[in-house]
Amino acid sequence: MNFLEERIVKDGVVKEGNVLKVDSFLNHQIDISLFDEIGREFKDRFAGRPINKILTIEASGIGIAAVAATHFGVPVVFAKKAKSINLEGEMYVAEVESFTHKTKNQVIVSKKFLSGNDRVLIIDDFLANGCALQGLIQIVQAAGAVVEGIGIAIEKGFQPGGQIIRNLGYKLESLAIVDAMDPVTGEITFR
Ligand code: 5GP
Repeated sequence: MNFLEERIVKDGVVKEGNVLKVDSFLNHQIDISLFDEIGREFKDRFAGRPINKILTIEASGIGIAAVAATHFGVPVVFAKKAKSINLEGEMYVAEVESFTHKTKNQVIVSKKFLSGNDRVLIIDDFLANGCALQGLIQIVQAAGAVVEGIGIAIEKGFQPGGQIIRNLGYKLESLAIVDAMDPVTGEITFR
């Protein structure tokens, strides 16, 4: 088991509905030294890629992306969840269905912060069905930028997102891939 898998076993809680709760260290209370290790691991796994920007999505991707960015020395842009619909013009827009809230949001990135010159590493905390990532990929493509890679902390391998994204040909690196988890016993199986 790697450092993240060990932490998930120690502090993660398996909930009904295929939800893994990691709010004691990852998406409510944050363990910054763990994030620092995650960032260093992404830096290793994407070594040699000409990344000049990290893109994530609010809210829970921002912390990991921000700490990872210290290892890459690049800025972070996060897609914002937008309520307004009158956005064309200055914004790239994509529609994303939230796994945890089952709602559809438009997410936006200002054209000021993403352009055809950018080589982007996309980072997020979880990968489930892949909706969030597909929205972010759409935004990068709309900008004429290049997706150099995708870094995920926790992929739930029993949900389809990972396979969808890998089949599209992207270099997707997930630091922990959960292949099974049991809400009754709490048992978690990693790939
Ligand atoms: P997807 O778009 O791949 O279906 O879901 C990814 C998003 O849903 C992530 O940004 C994450 O915030 C949230 N998410 C998906 N599954 C889980 C989970 O098991 N636990 C938590 N805490 N968040 C999740």
